[in-house]
Amino acid sequence: MKTITTIKEIRAALNQEKKSGKRIGFVPTMGYFHEGHLSLMHKAKEDCDVVVTSIFVNPTQFGPSEDFEAYPRDLKNDSKMAEEAGVDYLFLPSVEEMYPGERLTYVNVEKITKVLCGAKRPGHFQGVATVVSKLFNIIKPDFAYFGEKDYQQLVVLKKMVKGLNFDVQIVGVPTVRDKDGLAMSSRNKYLGPKEREAALILNKSLILAQEMVKNGERSSAKIKKSMTKLFEKEPLVNLEYLSICDIISLQEISGIKGKVLIALAARVRKARLIDNIVVEGN
Ligand code: AMP
Repeated sequence: MKTITTIKEIRAALNQEKKSGKRIGFVPTMGYFHEGHLSLMHKAKEDCDVVVTSIFVNPTQFGPSEDFEAYPRDLKNDSKMAEEAGVDYLFLPSVEEMYPGERLTYVNVEKITKVLCGAKRPGHFQGVATVVSKLFNIIKPDFAYFGEKDYQQLVVLKKMVKGLNFDVQIVGVPTVRDKDGLAMSSRNKYLGPKEREAALILNKSLILAQEMVKNGERSSAKIKKSMTKLFEKEPLVNLEYLSICDIISLQEISGIKGKVLIALAARVRKARLIDNIVVEGN
């Protein structure tokens, strides 16, 4: 595995790979790897000849009172895990390398960035769309891999690729969970043992919703009510939003018909956690 920190060098190396006809798979991340990240790398390895992973804690996607400074970092261990996963190039640009000079250029996806996490984190998806556009222009991947855990991000980036004619195929990868059901996240590091136990309520509430749909419930209001009740029993967890919405437009829907996204965010002390599930009603 080659570790590269400059845009010039990664471009030169990947142009060479492209010239010899290699298919490039790209996994953008903010590091502090877990099995979720690894499953993206493994999928890229299956589909492509060359796998590039980037680690960049992107300042433009964090709000002023969010955890940019505190975000967990462990380059040494990440590097080892990436190498073991078969990554060919690890791209580690600095903030200065990615954003030299005054920042005046941004990429905006409208409407679908104003709901769910976008409503709670103004500017977040502008930061994500901007940095992913920049990374696509640097890496020029054939395939790029994103986790379904960040479902809204996946939908926004698919829309961006279509809207701006990026020549890349976005691939969604299912959420990887710990044995007890907690969706893996770098931010789980913020959880103490009691908080981690309490955080299981996120997944439990989604399973409850799934069961209700299986048993014939089609009313979003009733499902939301039961899920909210469950959260009320867990004082360590504050539900931030709960949405039952269309899987493409992300707009709220009142009844379960066809595939529907159930997405939520919750705070467990300083950790903001998200999770979701796609259910299907006939
Ligand atoms: P992050 O480093 O948290 O920005 O995540 C980098 C990529 O890994 C994003 O595409 C995430 O959606 C994906 N990812 C994070 N957690 C998981 C998970 N538990 N399962 C699958 N993919 C994940």
